[in-house]
Amino acid sequence: MRTYSIGLVPGPTRVPQAVRQAYLTDYGSADLEPEFFELYQATEAALGQILKTQHRMAMMTGEGMVALWGALKSCLRPGDRILAVGNGPYGVGIGKLAEGITGQLHTVRFDFDQPLDLGQVEAAIVEYRPHMVTAVHCDTPVGNLNPIQAIGELVRRYHVPLFYVDTVSAAAGAPLDVDGWGIDLALVGTQKCLSCLPDLAIVTVSPRAWEMAHQVNYAGYDALAPWDGFVERRYTPYTLSWHGIAALHTACQLILSEGLDHVIQRHAEVAQYCRQRVRSLGLELYQCDEAVMSPTVTAVKVPRGLTWETLDGRLRERGVVLGGSWDDLSGHVFRIGHMGSQADRGLVQAGLDALAAAL
Ligand SMILES: *Cc1c(COP(=O)(O)O)cnc(C)c1O
Repeated sequence: MRTYSIGLVPGPTRVPQAVRQAYLTDYGSADLEPEFFELYQATEAALGQILKTQHRMAMMTGEGMVALWGALKSCLRPGDRILAVGNGPYGVGIGKLAEGITGQLHTVRFDFDQPLDLGQVEAAIVEYRPHMVTAVHCDTPVGNLNPIQAIGELVRRYHVPLFYVDTVSAAAGAPLDVDGWGIDLALVGTQKCLSCLPDLAIVTVSPRAWEMAHQVNYAGYDALAPWDGFVERRYTPYTLSWHGIAALHTACQLILSEGLDHVIQRHAEVAQYCRQRVRSLGLELYQCDEAVMSPTVTAVKVPRGLTWETLDGRLRERGVVLGGSWDDLSGHVFRIGHMGSQADRGLVQAGLDALAAAL
């Protein structure tokens, strides 16, 4: 397989050496060893510090989509009304996943390159009276960062039972306060800002979300309920990935030893550098408003007179790989993933030097 020296795709990100090492250790069987449960709890505590939550978590085998699906299936029943904040492909897509379960969906749509209007979200909550509001923290394909705190305030003001937030590509790269912002179900993946392999799906579950999961009693591989108190019962829902949990623990330690604030600041600085440099190359950013650009990924318009295929080919010749985009944006937008281990000024600079040469 070809590998590239300058990888700047928005996930999976480069896995740091210490994290790779954690995967390579030969562990025992998770369900037999008390040591595993201690590691699981230590990992939950460390990740809780990063996500700012006291809520218990499910750290399931899988990757981001498993968390997205599992949390919906576990907490929703047919007929439940879903209000989806849709200003990006994931935001719109999550609404559709939920609609498949409940049959009831209202999506508050916004242009993907514009900030969302909280007034419209509020009006929709008042009118639709949803059971769950879904939102995406950073909608990766379009590189935005949504005002989750403000949406959370609306959720609480109007007593919406559940607030579901996909923070797969923002957690550990952008400011986040799961408990302070009233997030009942925060969805996290390991291959974005945490810079592990795409092997775990993490859901933080508030007390009322646990309650809902027990009421709904969904039975499936991705069900949340069996995770409630499994550590105390020493009864795992299936064979857990000791390797994956150990790697995640190491990744959390790397973040906490650097200092969470420092990590967040590093992302902000690298993102700012990236955007300013992209503009100086005469390229146009996809998002119209600087204030809503994510510190973890930058979406850029493919310049006129050049196809993404050509540009991508020229970059790869120079050892650089960036991300393309999907659906309607495919061929029109490309993305620079500066999250986790890739929120590195030198790496991004090298990638942008190559972009300048490729142009
Ligand atoms: C990457 C990502 C996911 C999860 O996708 P995977 O299939 O795990 O790669 C979910 N939501 C967002 C916003 C993402 O960026």
